[in-house]
Amino acid sequence: MADRTYGFDTLQIHAGARPDPATGARQTPIYQNTAYVFRDADHAAALFNLQELGFIYSRLLNPTVAVLQERVATLEGGVGAVACASGHAAQVMALFPLMGPGDNFVASTRLYGGSINQFGHAFKHFGWSVRFVDFEDLDAVKAAVDDRTKAVFCESIANPGGYITDIEAVSLVAKAAGLPLIVDNTSATPYLCRPFEHGADLVVHSTTKYLCGNATSMGGMVVDKGTFDWSASGKFPALSEPNPGYHGLKFHETFGNLAFTFFGIAVTLRDIGMCQAPMNAFQTLLGIETLSLRMDKHCANALKVATFLENHPAVEYVSYAGLPSSPYRARMEQYCPKGASSIFTFGVKGGYDACVKLVDSVELFSHLANLGDSRSLIIHSASTTHRQLTPEQQTAAGAGPEVVRLSIGIEDADDLIADLDQALEKAGRGSAAA
Ligand SMILES: *Cc1c(COP(=O)(O)O)cnc(C)c1O
Repeated sequence: MADRTYGFDTLQIHAGARPDPATGARQTPIYQNTAYVFRDADHAAALFNLQELGFIYSRLLNPTVAVLQERVATLEGGVGAVACASGHAAQVMALFPLMGPGDNFVASTRLYGGSINQFGHAFKHFGWSVRFVDFEDLDAVKAAVDDRTKAVFCESIANPGGYITDIEAVSLVAKAAGLPLIVDNTSATPYLCRPFEHGADLVVHSTTKYLCGNATSMGGMVVDKGTFDWSASGKFPALSEPNPGYHGLKFHETFGNLAFTFFGIAVTLRDIGMCQAPMNAFQTLLGIETLSLRMDKHCANALKVATFLENHPAVEYVSYAGLPSSPYRARMEQYCPKGASSIFTFGVKGGYDACVKLVDSVELFSHLANLGDSRSLIIHSASTTHRQLTPEQQTAAGAGPEVVRLSIGIEDADDLIADLDQALEKAGRGSAAA
């Protein structure tokens, strides 16, 4: 068996985990624990100097969280991963080693609404700025890069509009500029899309969504492919230059392809502190055990529901890359041939008012701000998640006033279709009367 590479279904259950050395417990224990006893003073010194790897304090590394890190790194095909408290924390973790005050990064306009807020407003407090660009226009991406640009950021399957980024084309632009390409792979998961195989350098996740899968636990992850040369350009001094917090240690020189991962643990988590709770890592590990089974069902259900909606008289259009009519169908075949995940949008005739009536009329769907749950979810982006954006930003992000977003769960597709059918009927009546 030694020469065998395990398949995805095997790795989603086994990667990173082994029977507990102390007890033989087969399932990964929840190490609900803060600190770890040193063997002696030399051991403690070696750990603090990063000369030996081990557990010191759970803000840096916790045994349950470490299993999750190794599992997601393996599924993505990366060399290492660092877990953190949420997807938003993961975006900070991904950029923190790269950026300094006055630096900028180039990001797609088609992003999760919360990311647009985080990048556009909160990051200003760090002195970081973002340049939002339509990633269909590669010349515009190129033109947005200047000598203070440190990264390029996009989503694989973009939330909310079912848009699929041409990762390979974007990666060539990033590569030519000597910049790492960061891909948020939350909506696709590594089962549907493996961004590293298409030129991405770092992958970020909100594990809160499909990876956990049942909406119990917040979490985030940054995965490093391990091939970006952090020293080549002098643009990334945090990784290439001596670190004053570790007696002048140079992360890239010392840790090679694990530099980004070690920096994430030894500096970002240590100093910024957005660590993941062990209970959340445990719940997420349980979720990942069934990832491929769930994603197949999510995708199959989404295709059935999208097909139903496309043929419904109250629906203006459906934006789902899994539909044969989608302009992104060819990209789906290139980047996520097993399916286009289960988040998509559709336009409701009657606009804003009909959408509000629709979300108030569903019975089986839950009206809430989340996605990637085993339950089916519905939201009207313009009145909720994308409410803080300008009308231009809403439309650019695929969240105009007539747009409803669905996250299709793993229930019976016929029940989901029946629920939408009755709710659309009520929404149509409501707007006709208005
Ligand atoms: C949810 C989400 C995030 C933010 O993750 P949290 O875990 O909610 O902080 C970032 N990107 C995408 C694509 C998401 O769906």
